Amino acid sequence: MKPYILIVEDEASLITLLRYNLEKEGFEVGEAIDGDEALVMARERRPDLMVLDWILPSLAGIEVCRRLRRLPEIKNTPIIMLTARGEEADRIRGLDSGADDYIVKPFSPTELIARIRAVLRRLRPALADEAITYRDLKMDLVAHKVTRDGQIVHLGPTEFRLLRHFLEHPGRVFSREQLLDSVWGQDVYLESRTVDVHVRRLRQALNAGDRADLIRTVRSAGYSLDAS
Ligand code: CA
Repeated sequence: MKPYILIVEDEASLITLLRYNLEKEGFEVGEAIDGDEALVMARERRPDLMVLDWILPSLAGIEVCRRLRRLPEIKNTPIIMLTARGEEADRIRGLDSGADDYIVKPFSPTELIARIRAVLRRLRPALADEAITYRDLKMDLVAHKVTRDGQIVHLGPTEFRLLRHFLEHPGRVFSREQLLDSVWGQDVYLESRTVDVHVRRLRQALNAGDRADLIRTVRSAGYSLDAS
């Protein structure tokens, strides 16, 4: 699965350059030329990471960033801001508005790609590697295969996505609503009970043969991947 990067930039030549280099490096690229388009596109398909220019027509990058952070389904998407300004105060404002990192123009595509990989490794580790492991659990993202202690674990597509989400954020507790947003998507209206059903199935599959339970139920809060 290729990481999907949404570039928000009004300079056509820069978009062309970034698209060429990112695609060459195995990323899938979407582009928006202003903030409004970016908000629409990000809601239609959640990017794995956004590259957001500070200076955009109509809505400024910093405002786009704030608005994105208010959308429940987008708020965890990593954002790298592109800024022409070198002033420390602006960088801090950028990070305050919810950006995860920034890069000062002019920059080389290689520099941006290195930054993208670093942010993905930090925030979405599953995208930076071909396999994610946790204890004796291994998810091969290329072959779409899960093993525990070397034994194949058979999962349905929803359980696979659910497990992947947990593996991307080990130890973190997610409410049922957060899981519905992240794993099922924003346009799906389901009861939170649905989450319980799929967590139960995931548990049964993972724990077959009396293995230790890797999923922790946090009373009145939700679930997390936690072996302790
Ligand atoms: Ca610009």
